[in-house]
Amino acid sequence: MIDTDAVIIGAGPVGLFQAFQLGLQEIRAHLIDALPHPGGQCAELYPDKPIYDIPGLPLCSGQELTDRLLQQIAPFQVPMHLGQAVQSLESLPDGRWQIGTTAGMVWRAPTVFIAAGVGAFVPRKPPLDGLEVFEQGPNAQVRYFGVTPASVTGQHVVVMGGENEALETALQLAEAGSCASLTLLHRVDKFRADAALEQAIRSAIDKGRLRLVLGQPLAIEQRQTTEGRRLDALHLATPDGPEGATTRLPLDVLLPRLGLSPKLGPITDWGLAMERKQLVVDTERFATSAPGIFAVGDINTYPGKRKLILCGFHEATLAAFAAAAIVHPERRVLLQYTTTSPRLHELLGVKPTPA
Ligand SMILES: Cc1cc2nc3c(=O)[nH]c(=O)nc-3n(C[C@H](O)[C@H](O)[C@H](O)COP(=O)(O)OP(=O)(O)OC[C@H]3O[C@@H](n4cnc5c(N)ncnc54)[C@H](O)[C@@H]3O)c2cc1C
Repeated sequence: MIDTDAVIIGAGPVGLFQAFQLGLQEIRAHLIDALPHPGGQCAELYPDKPIYDIPGLPLCSGQELTDRLLQQIAPFQVPMHLGQAVQSLESLPDGRWQIGTTAGMVWRAPTVFIAAGVGAFVPRKPPLDGLEVFEQGPNAQVRYFGVTPASVTGQHVVVMGGENEALETALQLAEAGSCASLTLLHRVDKFRADAALEQAIRSAIDKGRLRLVLGQPLAIEQRQTTEGRRLDALHLATPDGPEGATTRLPLDVLLPRLGLSPKLGPITDWGLAMERKQLVVDTERFATSAPGIFAVGDINTYPGKRKLILCGFHEATLAAFAAAAIVHPERRVLLQYTTTSPRLHELLGVKPTPA
């Protein structure tokens, strides 16, 4: 159980800037994101593509904007809890909120900032009955994120998918050469990936560093062992196999890399006023229908709303001022300039500029 002043749900560009604005207001915040890395859509959907409409930054990529925002919030040392989605939001008798995640972590805070964008990015899963049993725990046989060659040494590994992420994962493991066997499983002999990456994969296949298997998984094969249930193989329908017959693909580890899709998930169950799957806010504080809960960025709606990063930055700024009145009711909330305020210089860890 972590007690804090504010919890930010979503570490996209707006959630990150929210952390900065809360830092300026001396509000202690924690950031939570379902993805294993910060940056939201910028980092996930267009890390290398250019953005031209961030004020004062004529050109930057999605990843560069994320890196700059992380640099900007560094002075506030905001704890970041990644790879876990916020599942529950409940009111406490003392007026605070209790926030719980899929990883079993719990926070209590008087203010909550929902910066959830288009929803939590969750991996697309192969439609195979019973697969979820093998997704849990440190020795999970089915892993959707973050596999290193060392973590699968000596194992029979199957990477599933035909886009960049699948090919990058397969290539990384092929180059390390530490798997007992490595298979790239895809529906057809055609990839939707960068040309250079596809060339590198084809070359690795030609050199025998991995094999390409074409097929559509239809079922899993599992058995009970003394240590629990074990996933042994996939049964595939293959393009050149006889109709109705399946091919068995044995494995120790399955790495589905089928892309991510956003899911609004539990946000719709929290009893907050919504319009067309967006949280209704006022434009003075960006507060939702529940006291102490704010919504900023792509997740909110109000007359004239535009889903742009700079609009989210403005919303986060006013929401932080409004939260200061809740977290520090004893203080007058004053406007201070980062250029001239000694207190803000102290918070930012910068030296005052000579007069
Ligand atoms: C291809 C493309 C190009 C774009 N170009 C521009 C541009 O040039 N200029 C511009 O201004 N905008 C652009 N946009 C839009 C911009 O990316 C969005 O407006 C911006 O990302 C919104 O930021 P956000 O922080 O509100 O949400 P997001 O970036 O969507 O981040 C939300 C985060 O919240 C997390 N989350 C959601 N629900 C939960 C939960 N329950 N628990 C934990 N975490 C959760 C998600 O995993 C995600 O990381 C572009 C968008 C796309 C797709």
